[in-house]
Amino acid sequence: MRRRFFFRLLASLFTLPFIKSCAKVPVTNRTQLNLIPDKWVRWVSDKYYYDYLDDNLLIQDMDMYNRVFDIGLKIQGAIKKYFEIKNLDFTKYNLDYEINVVDDKRNLNAFAMANAKVVFFRRIVEFCDNDDQIAAIMGHEMGHVIAKHIHERISHRLTWDILTLGIAEIFAELGFFLPWSRKQESEADYLGVVFMTLAGYNPNEAAKFWDNLHEYREKVKKYKSNPDLIVKIKKNLPEFTSTHPFPENRSKKIKEWAKEVKDEFKDYI
Ligand SMILES: [Zn+2]
Repeated sequence: MRRRFFFRLLASLFTLPFIKSCAKVPVTNRTQLNLIPDKWVRWVSDKYYYDYLDDNLLIQDMDMYNRVFDIGLKIQGAIKKYFEIKNLDFTKYNLDYEINVVDDKRNLNAFAMANAKVVFFRRIVEFCDNDDQIAAIMGHEMGHVIAKHIHERISHRLTWDILTLGIAEIFAELGFFLPWSRKQESEADYLGVVFMTLAGYNPNEAAKFWDNLHEYREKVKKYKSNPDLIVKIKKNLPEFTSTHPFPENRSKKIKEWAKEVKDEFKDYI
């Protein structure tokens, strides 16, 4: 009896911090597990981010940089606007966004880190048909940040793997090189649609971007038998297409959301 009590006590002690650590994702209101303090994640992210910038060349093309930067500013403005419209507390989400474009013409990539640093590759900027599509990626990536997806991933990882993994490995992962889960991807898509719409961009272009990317991926698959191309594809970083998996109905879903969101916020756009 005493032993049972002891185990119960132990179980509650173990569970308590997890219950207390459930947070709500703004916009979607999903409950998520978050065991990681913001300061901690940002501190580690900063270290990786500045190391990353040291190892990669930034673009010299200021027109391209300014174009991406301005779109980033508009999306940040839209995030703030969303919080105001919904009467939500923005103080914790007033993040120190930084946008960079690396001069990589071969890898189709973009990512955001938990410290609100967003990196676009030249290749993905050139791949986009228009500003609306760049805004779609920007909104999606900032959506991952606002929804604290990296905190959530590390929290899950810590919960299950702390006994078998070295902390250093968890640090190193930080989420940004691994494929996102479908749930997180879908949530970032939705947040992206909301933010780009409020910033005045056409959310249907987000669906068009994913369709174009799907077409591109199919083309790459066709050429996979060509060893020269495989060398080009296998770089240090995975491509956007491998960190962002393709649920079949992705662009269909975005089109539906685009309609709903445009309707919901018609007085603000
Ligand atoms: Zn994503």
